[in-house]
Amino acid sequence: MSGGDQPTLSAEEALRESEYRYRNLFQAMAASFWELDFTPVGGMLRELRKQGVIDFAAYFADNPAFVRQMMHVTRVIDVNDQTVALFGNGDKAELFQTLDVYWPEESNQVYAASVLAAVSGKPSYATETKLRKLNGEIFDALFTACFAPETVANGKLLIGVIDISERVRAQAMLRQVQAEFAHAARVSMLGELTASIAHEVNQPLAAIATNASAGLRWLNRAEPDVAEVRALTQRIIADAQRAADIISRVRAMADHRAPEPARLAINGVVEEAMQFLAHELQGQSVTLKLDLGKGLPLVLADRTQLQQVVVNLAVNAVQAMAQTPTHQRRVTLRTSFSDGRVHVAVEDSGPGIDAVHQSRLFERFFTTKSNGMGMGLPICRSIVETYGGAISARNAESGGAVFAFTLPAAH
Ligand code: ADP
Repeated sequence: MSGGDQPTLSAEEALRESEYRYRNLFQAMAASFWELDFTPVGGMLRELRKQGVIDFAAYFADNPAFVRQMMHVTRVIDVNDQTVALFGNGDKAELFQTLDVYWPEESNQVYAASVLAAVSGKPSYATETKLRKLNGEIFDALFTACFAPETVANGKLLIGVIDISERVRAQAMLRQVQAEFAHAARVSMLGELTASIAHEVNQPLAAIATNASAGLRWLNRAEPDVAEVRALTQRIIADAQRAADIISRVRAMADHRAPEPARLAINGVVEEAMQFLAHELQGQSVTLKLDLGKGLPLVLADRTQLQQVVVNLAVNAVQAMAQTPTHQRRVTLRTSFSDGRVHVAVEDSGPGIDAVHQSRLFERFFTTKSNGMGMGLPICRSIVETYGGAISARNAESGGAVFAFTLPAAH
């Protein structure tokens, strides 16, 4: 506007022009935009200070009613068409209410956090939260508040809202599909191990039958030997417990329940996974070596899912050694801790990973086995990543493959 023949705008005109541009922009935005008047909130906060409250964050957390009251005095003074479409029933004027109308209780802390951000001089605040439409429907939203000093000084606040319910729904669906896949893979793995598991359950059952017959013989003597019968009965109890443990392990694997993250000792998880495979390893003449680190921190994960990861990697290791001479078949499981992460490595003495396949190992449906599904490794990766970890594959110096994953230590 500095050209010679262009008349210079008066300050008032310039202001009007900028206001006009702003209004246009406000309307043209693809997202829902709101202009709020929060002047009374400033008064409430000044009053709190006067009462000696210094830690607003703690005060808001302890006094949800105060947070609701701040929303109740925050008024909607303008919205754009997108807001009418998203929140309203077609009538813009209907939307000019107090902010608490749009704010479900569960999102109280988001409002509190945005007030805190504003008073601590942050330029903006954004988060995912739940908001409420005028018809009462609660939806997932990306909420942004902008604290431009000029507007804040006038008690005005700009907020933007993007409806992300589709994305959240899609993510939930994806998680569901992954859970179904993981479940299918566990069940199919159990199928492969059925012979082994049946044998494992059969052992204690056979022992129970033998010990019970022996007990009967001691009882049927002219002078029953009670001490002997007591010892045999105790062994029967121990064997019954062993069989029950095996069954409950299998049941946990076959169960289709939601994951329950808990603080776990990784060595316990590895040992349980190996109990699953003990007979399979024996049957394939594989020597198992456990090299478990001492004093490892706990990790936060679902027990059955982690067992599934370890079992999958170990089953892959055994399958990779199908052509390896039996006396050379070895699986080593290592656990350790470094850089704030717990490490688990499964190393075999098979042929190792073919360089051509290296980059595709974790792809869905990638398999080099005639009866493979190619879902084992992608599922392992998805489980490990769910808990903030990473998984990788390489070849060991000895030539076999090493599949290793890490998980952050739980605080
Ligand atoms: P699947 O076992 O059904 O093939 P996975 O996703 O578990 O599916 O494995 C994908 C592929 O990764 C396998 O087909 C194999 O080629 C390779 N692989 C997995 N584990 C090993 C291993 N220990 N040594 C060599 N190759 C392996």
